[in-house]
Amino acid sequence: MQGREGARVWLPDPDQVWRCAELTADYSNKLVAVIYEDGQTKEIKVKNEDELPPLRNPDILIGENDLTSLSYLHEPAVLYNLQVRFCNHNAIYTYCGIVLVAFNPYEELPIYGPDTISAYRGHSMGDLDPHIFAVAEEAFTQMERDNRDQSIIVSGESGAGKTVSAKYAMRYFASVGGSDSETQIEKKILASSPIMEAIGNAKTTRNDNSSRFGKYIELDFTSNYDIMGANMRTYLLEKSRVVFQAPEERNYHIFYQLCSVSDKFKHLKLGHHDNFHYLNQGSSPTIEGVDDAKNFEETCRALSLLGMNEKTQGQMFRVLAGILHLGNVALEEGNGDSSAVDSQDESLHIVAELLGIEAEELKMWLCHRKIVSGREVFTKPMTLREATFSRDALAKDIYAKLFDYIVIQINKCFAAPTKPFRFIGVLDIYGFETFEINSFEQFCINYANEKLQQQFNQHVFKLEQEEYVKEKIEWEFINFYDNQPCIDLIESKLGILDLLDEECRMPKGSDQSWVEKLYDKCKSREHFSKPRLSNTSFIIAHFADKVGYECAGFLEKNRDTVSEEQIKLLKSSQISLINTLFTEKSRKPAATKVKVMPTSPAPSKSKQMKQTVGSQFRDSLNLLTQTLNSTTPHYVRCIKPNDDKMAFTFDPTRAIQQLRACGVLETVRISAAGYPSRWTYHEFFCRYRVLCRSWDIKRNDMKLTCEKIISNMINDEDKFKFGRTKIFFRAGQVAYMEKLRADRL
Ligand code: ADP
Ligand code: MG
Repeated sequence: MQGREGARVWLPDPDQVWRCAELTADYSNKLVAVIYEDGQTKEIKVKNEDELPPLRNPDILIGENDLTSLSYLHEPAVLYNLQVRFCNHNAIYTYCGIVLVAFNPYEELPIYGPDTISAYRGHSMGDLDPHIFAVAEEAFTQMERDNRDQSIIVSGESGAGKTVSAKYAMRYFASVGGSDSETQIEKKILASSPIMEAIGNAKTTRNDNSSRFGKYIELDFTSNYDIMGANMRTYLLEKSRVVFQAPEERNYHIFYQLCSVSDKFKHLKLGHHDNFHYLNQGSSPTIEGVDDAKNFEETCRALSLLGMNEKTQGQMFRVLAGILHLGNVALEEGNGDSSAVDSQDESLHIVAELLGIEAEELKMWLCHRKIVSGREVFTKPMTLREATFSRDALAKDIYAKLFDYIVIQINKCFAAPTKPFRFIGVLDIYGFETFEINSFEQFCINYANEKLQQQFNQHVFKLEQEEYVKEKIEWEFINFYDNQPCIDLIESKLGILDLLDEECRMPKGSDQSWVEKLYDKCKSREHFSKPRLSNTSFIIAHFADKVGYECAGFLEKNRDTVSEEQIKLLKSSQISLINTLFTEKSRKPAATKVKVMPTSPAPSKSKQMKQTVGSQFRDSLNLLTQTLNSTTPHYVRCIKPNDDKMAFTFDPTRAIQQLRACGVLETVRISAAGYPSRWTYHEFFCRYRVLCRSWDIKRNDMKLTCEKIISNMINDEDKFKFGRTKIFFRAGQVAYMEKLRADRL
């Protein structure tokens, strides 16, 4: 530990996360002194060399537009570099190897116009400042050059800028892949945004326009690389929002849009949105700067452009209004353990009218259910609680079916007339998340992110491998993090999902007995643990963080049952759209085929049980992974710099949290484990010629010259490798050479 005086280091700090400091004295093996930039001093205890604080990078590297070119690759270095770029240079984009890190500026920037698009056209990633257009351009050229499908994977937490980034990427492709054909497919693709936002986005406390579903859009190209069609898959729509909103939040935009033009649709009997239980729970019905009536017109225009005519639109609005009125049907306590609806209930009659069903039957099946016992069938009243639950389940189901239906219609309109030659897919899906209380939704999202992280790790690993082979150097990946065990814990036989499905099939299955089975069957798995102070939750050690999940509600959410009699009733509807929605075959997107599982006496009172939400999600994720693996992936990680939507304001605590969660630090770690710094022989020579003795310079052999320079300076042969065209260095070596160079100058 001697000779450390003067070393520039980082020290952990509760507010700033990391603070700059300098070692002033190295007293003994146990103690070093530091001084902060503001002159404050401190002594810190260290047991050995490994415990010394992380070192700062040389100044020439600060503000680098690629984090992996930093010499010291660790958390403080990454954080500081991003902060300097964002706060001092208003640079929202930075590369981290093959990843584009994108900070949400919360301010309109003049960097997305047609001029910028043309500037990026034809340039490779290193030529210009990092940009979402550079990533899109890279994907486009690689599609042409390698004749391979591509994908752009955008992730980040809510409000980080995923949807905006995905939209800009699409705009880029629409612009460079625009054809002159009359179909104007690009226009249609861009028109799908307002529709999907109307039916799939809502105001939340984190984002006024938060997407409550994941989506993967494939743009299809002809052999001339003109756009010829598109296809969209969606994931995990948040259905609970249809019937419940937390304070300050809203239901899906489309409902408010529809209410704002209720004068135009008198027969829907809507009026003010505050009249509806499904719309007023958040007590925050307006969004600053948003005009619902104006947006409604845009939604309708887009629907028309995408082939949904006025008649279909009329029926959709009927369904939506029907859902709202359904939420207002007054369910009451009946005699004994039963529930009731007044025959005169106004909402009941409006729902029946709008959905084209009999009011009496609706009344019956809102409060009763059928029980099959052996050969006997009888009806049983539901308690008020059960009836309310079942009504809400129906409302959610109708909405989800309408959502799927609209996606199918959009896809029909997008569909390429002939087999596409190549595609570029854009994935916009929630990042890893952890709350105070985590449930089935977080479990699914984090599972998805675990899969995406694995896909990412494998890709980075492969690229590194290829680079080393190409340069003909030997190497071994140290400590490569493989999250397969965590994925196995979730999706393998007798894993979490499997046990959950099994429990759902048990007539007396419960959240509690499921979690106890988990404790028993999964206890030896390394990523699983039981919290000491709880018997109702379990912990998964995800790649980004440990997350505790509360078991309450898992079974219900996984089963997602709707009363069969209510479904039957809707199947009998006089309205053709409702018929279509409830005809199994036409509604399921290809990505989520309906599978029938053989079951023991099922709680859903039927011999067959529909596929559970969890296993449907597993299948669609596996399909997604397969698709992504068949493409060349490009990664965009969006970061929300603060929680107050303030322009260019950097909260280091929040930033570091997300850098951990989205795998940027993991990327840095992978880079650091190999040879992160790479210089061509010529570049190296130009910078470090001052370190070389004149007789070492062999003008016509750069490689030999560089070998001589390095052998004079670095003793440890593991610290560098000579490749065919480049020199590879371990982390920290460039900083060391910079120091030597500075001393020499
Ligand atoms: P996410 O999809 O990750 O939840 P969004 O893409 O909806 O987040 O972004 C949330 C908000 O942040 C946007 O409505 C917009 O106001 C702002 N925003 C995001 N990205 C940018 C950007 N590149 N430039 C300007 N504002 C942005
Ligand atoms: Mg979004």
